[in-house]
Order: sequence, then C-alpha cells, then structure tokens
Amino acid sequence: DIVTMDKIVALCKRRGFIFPSSEIYGGVGSTYDYGHYGVLLKTNVKSEWWRAMLQQRDDVVAIDSAIIQSPRVWEASGHLAGFSDPLVQCLGECKRRWRLDHLQEAAVENGEDPALVRCPTCGGELSEPRAFNLMFETTVGPVRDAGATVYLRPETAQGIFINFKNVLQFARRKPPFGIAQVGKSFRNEITPGNFIFRTREFEQMEMEFFVPPDDAPRWFAHWLSERERWYHELGIRPDHLRLRAHDQDELSHYSSGTSDVEYLFPIGWSELEGIANRGEFDLNAHRTASGEKLEYMDPGTGERYTPHVIEPAAGADRATLAFLVDAYDEEEVEGDTRTVLRLHPRLAPVKVAVMPLLKKGGHPELAREIFADLRVRMQGEYDEGGSIGKRYRRQDEIGTPWGVTIDHQSIEDQTVTLRDRDSLEQVRIAIDDLAPELERRLKA
Ligand code: ATP
Repeated sequence: DIVTMDKIVALCKRRGFIFPSSEIYGGVGSTYDYGHYGVLLKTNVKSEWWRAMLQQRDDVVAIDSAIIQSPRVWEASGHLAGFSDPLVQCLGECKRRWRLDHLQEAAVENGEDPALVRCPTCGGELSEPRAFNLMFETTVGPVRDAGATVYLRPETAQGIFINFKNVLQFARRKPPFGIAQVGKSFRNEITPGNFIFRTREFEQMEMEFFVPPDDAPRWFAHWLSERERWYHELGIRPDHLRLRAHDQDELSHYSSGTSDVEYLFPIGWSELEGIANRGEFDLNAHRTASGEKLEYMDPGTGERYTPHVIEPAAGADRATLAFLVDAYDEEEVEGDTRTVLRLHPRLAPVKVAVMPLLKKGGHPELAREIFADLRVRMQGEYDEGGSIGKRYRRQDEIGTPWGVTIDHQSIEDQTVTLRDRDSLEQVRIAIDDLAPELERRLKA
C-alpha cells in the first residue's frame, strides 16, 4: 500500500519540512519553500550522493559551475533550438495548457488511445501542439533593451562538459573519470505539479563519466547497478524501485541507451533518475561550437580520442520526495494511530532527541549535559516541552531514529533510556556508552 500524496503534503506542512512558497501573498503555483527539517533531509540526500560519488571512489571529482553561462553553451548543446515541449491548449471551457507528451503518456498508462487525448480538466478538445522553450530568459546589464539575453541553466550537465579541459589539466585526470555537480536548475515547465515531483526550479545531482569509447557499454552497466544500489542502501523498498530501459522511439537524439530508475510514487511508476549513454555527442557539440579540442591524448601511445559519456542524472527534490513516501507509515499502537517516518538514520533530519522526563529533579540539567556531548557528533534535538508521549510522537513524525530519556534513575545510576523509533524497544544504557553506541548504529 502506498501513502497518498495528500498525507505527505500534510505531514510536510505540519512539521515544517516543505510548504507552499509566498503564502502571505497568496502563493505561486507549484513553488515550495523548505523549512528546517526539509533542509536537513534534503541536505542529507545530497551528502549521501556526494559521499557515494567522491568519498567512496577515487575516479570522480567535484565541480560547481555558474547558473548563468554564455548563451553559446545552450546554442551548442541544442537547448535553445530543441529544448521545447509540445504544448497544447484546451479549446473547451477551461482553456488550460498542457504538455501533450504528458497527456499521451498518461493515456498509454491507462490503456487509452494517445491519439484521442482530451483536456483532463474539462474534457474539451485540444489545440494543435506548438513548441515552447523551457528555458527562463533574463538580461545581463543595466539597460534592458541593450542587455544581452542569457538563460538560467535548465540542467547542470552542460556546466560539466564546458569544464572538461579544465579538469583534465588541473585535476590531472584521464578516462575513465567523472565530474559531479549538485545545484539548482530551472525549467519553465508547462504542467508542474504533484508537490515537489515537478517544479520550475529544482536541484539536480548529475555526474558525467568520461570513458574510452570501447568501454562505454561496460560503464553504462556499471552505473545502472551503482545507482540502483544507492537507493537500496538508503532503505528504499526494492519492490518499489525498478530500472526501465527506454524504447528506441523514446531515446533522445544523442543517446544510444537510456534507462530510468523509476519509483512507485503515489502517482504511479515515475522517473526518479535517468541514466544515459550519451556517446561523444556533448563533447563534439562543444568542440564544434567553441573550436577547443575537447579530447584526450594518451601520453603513452600518443593516441587521441573523444571520450564517450555515461550520465546518471538525478533530482534532489524528487529523491527527497521518494524517501519521504517510502518512509511514511501509520500503525496502531495501544489503540492509537502512530505516524512514523522510517527514514534511514543517515537521511533522518535529526538523529537523536534528548528528553528529560520531568522539568525538575535535576532531569533537565543532566539532559543538557548529555545533549552537549551528543551534538558535536550528530544532529540532535533537545526537547523538554509537553508530555513524554507527545514528544515521542513528534519525533516519530520527523523520523528521528533514537530517543534518549533522562529520569530519576538516571540521576542515581548514570543510565538513560534509549528508545528505537521502529521497534519501539526501550533499553537502559550507561551514559558513557551512549555516544559510541549511537555512532556505531549510524555507521551500520
Ligand atoms: P521529466 O521527463 O520528468 O520531465 P526529464 O527526463 O526531462 O524529466 P532529465 O532532464 O533527465 O529529466 O533530468 C534528470 C532528473 O532531474 C530527473 O530524473 C528528475 O529527477 C530531475 N528533474 C527534471 N526535471 C524536474 C522538475 N521539473 N522538477 C523536479 N525535478 C526534475
């Protein structure tokens, strides 16, 4: 059973993870702000991605390129000409605009004829499709008319390709090696929606892996299994995750193979991440447009070649949504319904909550001492407000894996209660053993 999107949206708002942006001005459609726990959660998703790319391997380096780049980048990449969606408008009552490809995909999913799609809102007939460029434009320079038109990047990948030579030189790399980037991208999506699944500004986690041409199929397979493993390792239910290879007619013009990592969202199986074998398309395009030799020369053999590229491209917000959906659970405990986020401890916004049972008897003082020791090791929270049951419930809802309670016995024998979010098991543990035990569990 899959949780409804409404429940996720409600929990996110109730606990301050993610909420509609600009609410005091009536909001802007499909735009969201991340609150405290949302920031912590998404930061953890991104750190785990960096950790898998950088810390756990020695063939990937990091980059952080500009959001506003030379417009020639987008000319060369094909985004200016080709980054457009077929847009249709309802000719019936509602006049809404839709992306034709999305409507057709939904029709196929429902076993209907994609050629006969109508407006999902009012059933009206749809206009002929026309192209609509998805890039946001702005001008550089103080005078609007005289300024140069530039674009907010619609993907982080191009900022990597244009730095290929820099990395070869300064990081002294040779294929196979990768360049990884995390950052905001912007697309003027026609039909954003489904909470943070599709928005007009979002964060991507992309890595371009450059390989000798003959090795491309092998590395493509490597990255498919690596990326699937990453989600599994962070606790995603295996039966809600799948790899789906694109059919020939779905492939982008530059791709000789693409597989999507799909997750069973409340809206059905949908793309979480795309993994593509892009061949030499990108480096060639930028070489032609810039005149720079974007190739590799093997110093041993003197052989020159243009590396092929394998690209795992993920969305940080979409991954965050998947982890939230996957973690959400409701269960009956002693006649009450408990809502709990069973997030992997490394993703959980808060790892440990430290709670004095009472606001007297020396409990708060000892609790603060314990908290001071724990917070240098992991994200913690000190909480003394309300009944202990209420505090546990609050921590369950934000996915805190461990709760530490200080009571009268703690004062006497220097032990505390350690509560586990998932099993609800409570054990007594010596205060001295607490930090090492939690660090051990976090690494497990
Ligand atoms: P879609 O078909 O869903 O529009 P796409 O195939 O155009 O996505 P890519 O260009 O491959 O997406 O981008 C890589 C990843 O970036 C996606 O798998 C997704 O996780 C994320 N992403 C892309 N567009 C959006 C968006 N509008 N909002 C949130 N995340 C996005």
